[in-house]
Amino acid sequence: MSEFWSADADKMAESRDDAGSEVQRLRFLNRDLISLFAQPAIGMGQTPAGVIKTLLEVLLSMLRVDLAYARVTRPGESGIEAASASTCPEIAQRAPGLGMALERWLKAETWNTPITIESPLERGEMRLLMGRFGLHEDSGVVAVGSRRQSFPTEAEALLFRVAINQAVIGFQGAQLLQEHERVERLALEAASLGTWDHDPLTGNMKWSDRCKELFGLPPDAKVDYQVFLAGLHPEDRERTHLAVQRALAAESGGRFKIEYRTLGPQDGIERWVSAAGHAFFDGSGRAVRFVGTVFDITDRKRAEAERELFLAKEQAARVAAEEAKSRAAFLAEAGLILSESLDYEETLKRLARLCVCSIADWCVIDVVQDGREIRRLGGAHSDPAKEPFLRELQRRYPPRSDSPHPAARMLRTGEPLLLPDLSDAEIRSLCQDDEHARIIRELGARSVVAVPLVARGQTLGVLSLASASPGRRYGRADLELAQELARRAAMAVDNARLYREAQEAIRLRDEFLSVASHELYTPMTSLMLSLEALIPLARAERILDPRAVRKLLDLVSRQGRRLIRLIGDLLDVSRIETGRLRLELAEVELGDLVRDVVERFEPDLARTQCPLSVRASAPVTGRWDRSRLDQVVTNLLTNAIKFGAGTPVEISVGAEAGVARLAVKDCGIGIGADLQARVFDRFARAAPATHYGGLGLGLYISRGIAEAHGGSIGVESQPGAGSTFTVELPCTGPRAAAGRESLQGG
Ligand code: ADP
Repeated sequence: MSEFWSADADKMAESRDDAGSEVQRLRFLNRDLISLFAQPAIGMGQTPAGVIKTLLEVLLSMLRVDLAYARVTRPGESGIEAASASTCPEIAQRAPGLGMALERWLKAETWNTPITIESPLERGEMRLLMGRFGLHEDSGVVAVGSRRQSFPTEAEALLFRVAINQAVIGFQGAQLLQEHERVERLALEAASLGTWDHDPLTGNMKWSDRCKELFGLPPDAKVDYQVFLAGLHPEDRERTHLAVQRALAAESGGRFKIEYRTLGPQDGIERWVSAAGHAFFDGSGRAVRFVGTVFDITDRKRAEAERELFLAKEQAARVAAEEAKSRAAFLAEAGLILSESLDYEETLKRLARLCVCSIADWCVIDVVQDGREIRRLGGAHSDPAKEPFLRELQRRYPPRSDSPHPAARMLRTGEPLLLPDLSDAEIRSLCQDDEHARIIRELGARSVVAVPLVARGQTLGVLSLASASPGRRYGRADLELAQELARRAAMAVDNARLYREAQEAIRLRDEFLSVASHELYTPMTSLMLSLEALIPLARAERILDPRAVRKLLDLVSRQGRRLIRLIGDLLDVSRIETGRLRLELAEVELGDLVRDVVERFEPDLARTQCPLSVRASAPVTGRWDRSRLDQVVTNLLTNAIKFGAGTPVEISVGAEAGVARLAVKDCGIGIGADLQARVFDRFARAAPATHYGGLGLGLYISRGIAEAHGGSIGVESQPGAGSTFTVELPCTGPRAAAGRESLQGG
């Protein structure tokens, strides 16, 4: 704001409306006039454009108008056009447009005569007051506009004129100052001008000392055209030579003006030179003389270069700040989507949508399921007409772990992929066949970035973004943004999966508790019933029928043992879980052990009429825990009889390369492929609980025991065709047990 108008001027203006009285108005007018006249001119010491800008500010604040506009012409120089509006800050840039809109009013007839016009700023009318700027009719015009119907009052019209006059004085001062500076600069330049004179016919050349100095040559240096060319900076040599040739051709009129760099042959200094000259021709158009001046512009060039560098840096910083802002906004929006739901499939679909709204033309998100299969969850295209191609892509070319698709490749390597400019050949190399490449081309893929979704060190999937627009070419910043997005998405997927797993674990635990209660309750009830049958008999002190007593006691003992086994299983689970499964190692012959277990099972085998054969041709001896292996064989045999449904059961024992192998085969109900993967997990029960009892712990414990021995357990099965469970054990016993008799396994 100008120095004419102090902060309390606004307050005064306010109260001016209210005052109303003539005396008050005169007082304010007087004050404003004094403040205007107190200064010798408006915009003293400024540039001509600065004076005009200040004038507009003074008018805006002093007259409280809504719009101020000025156009000033200058002989021999470009005119000045400026605008200012209190409610419309960007009007300054739109000054020429505003001038055009006001054009038909800016006429001599309307000078100093207010008129009402359509407001060029907004709907409604505006009172416009115009005045001439300067002495001549064509020297310029100033206009102010106000929405006030009463504008201008007499006092305001007077202030308007006085302000313009003050500005004209300031403007003339500024013009003079500029002219003065220009003359000074010319004088300075003249003092450091070098001259040259060239005779194209003889090749003779004369350079002033200053000219030689600008080429880094001493005053006594000999010069010719070759010296001239050699003294030029290699990068400017060709174009300067061409400019000389042009000037020496008569059609050019002989004019020569160029800026080039010289490189001093001795001092090695680079100087910027501005050269201007003229060639003269004889009647036949031959150049006979070529003369001109050279002038050092190194400082100017350096300042220009610095300014350009500064501007470029400023521009780059602004672009970077803008990009950072939009990246942060994008990530914030993505974060919102990712945190909204635990249904990660739906969430990833929404994320893909968000990507195609801002950072990609199309996007696909693939996730790995059950550690093997790749599933596409999110697929979106910014152009809805192209979405059918995405569906076709998914239907005909779903990414498989061995396909050349970028997502599959990344799942193999874990490395992010940035393909800034995708050629046709590259597209083909990422596709399975020509048809696949055709669909990708239909979708459009000029630039591609694909990043893995990694959480807790595991690659959960891949986010692939593609740009079809030439204007969007992915670079490092996009890769980083995609990685950040992928990191957040992976975390969301991981959380959702953990949540699902936790839910599943809770469901399994609840199911287990109900099965376990049932399993414990059954033998306990039977045991109690037998005891309760004995008690009245004992109380009656009667001679009891020994056969009936033995039968009852047998039952009690059988149910008691079953309870002990169930509780033992539960204890074993907690031992395996906490790594406290102790092994008592000793020399054990596996065939012997199997035969002992089978002997114990004879009553069951007879009851179920299950034919059993044992193949153990040679002794297989190792350092193992006998009772634990007994437990494994018992578990496998129990299952084979239970799920074998009376079909033959076959046990084989053998060894190869120091590894003992025990296989238990039945021809019963078998196990489906999906359940095979988890039969060794805790509480896994593939068969319905209603048909077959069991806690679902036997195989889990068996695996714990096999692994504690440094061995393994596996299953091969076909539903309806039976199962073969195989245990492999190193004969040397567990590796960690070397030299020790017992250890903690698990
Ligand atoms: P349990 O038999 O006590 O339920 P296991 O851990 O021994 O527990 O077995 C887990 C599940 O594996 C069983 O519930 C059953 O569904 C399946 N299974 C085990 N052995 C066999 C087999 N030989 N044939 C078919 N299914 C079997």
